[in-house]
Amino acid sequence: MSQRSSLFKTVFLTEILKGLSLTLRKLFAKPVTVQYPEEKKPLAPGFRGRHALVRDPETGKDRCVGCYRCAQVCPAQCIYIETERDPETRARIVKRYDIDALRCIFCGYCEEVCPVNALVLTEFFEYSAYSREDLYFTREKLLSNWDEFIVTQKRPYFNPFWKPRGIPEKRLPAPKRKAEGI
Ligand code: SF4
Ligand code: SF4
Repeated sequence: MSQRSSLFKTVFLTEILKGLSLTLRKLFAKPVTVQYPEEKKPLAPGFRGRHALVRDPETGKDRCVGCYRCAQVCPAQCIYIETERDPETRARIVKRYDIDALRCIFCGYCEEVCPVNALVLTEFFEYSAYSREDLYFTREKLLSNWDEFIVTQKRPYFNPFWKPRGIPEKRLPAPKRKAEGI
């Protein structure tokens, strides 16, 4: 920078004037912040919030078939499943399905991989608890999470992670290909 230019800036306080003009412009610009919680911004589709097990409207139960895929893919290893075989039909029965939400990193792999779209990270995020136990979601709690969430949604509801983009449809398991909103 030449000496003359530096002197000009010092005499005429150009940097201060630049700063003041920026302040003035921002004073009348539309704010980028909102008055949360009175005001809320719409969430992006597929926002990953509180876990839920989808309650099937036909059976009133969850749709989990106990395939263990979600537990295997979970990087935090926070999904606990126990199954047993029906002694007569040999069908698999899910005895336990728990998620330790405090260990979850909300990656969404579990909902993507589930072949029957039984699991979802709902768009509900305003929750807290006073104890660790309250954030350990049992199967019943996961179903009640769904009930609380779905009443706030327009039906039919469809989560984008149930049919993830970038995977050719023919590579998805058949129930996922056919899946429609709930
Ligand atoms: S969102 Fe990711 S970390 Fe959380 S339970 Fe699912 S797979 Fe595990
Ligand atoms: S991937 Fe789906 S069906 Fe399989 S165990 Fe997990 S929630 Fe159940």
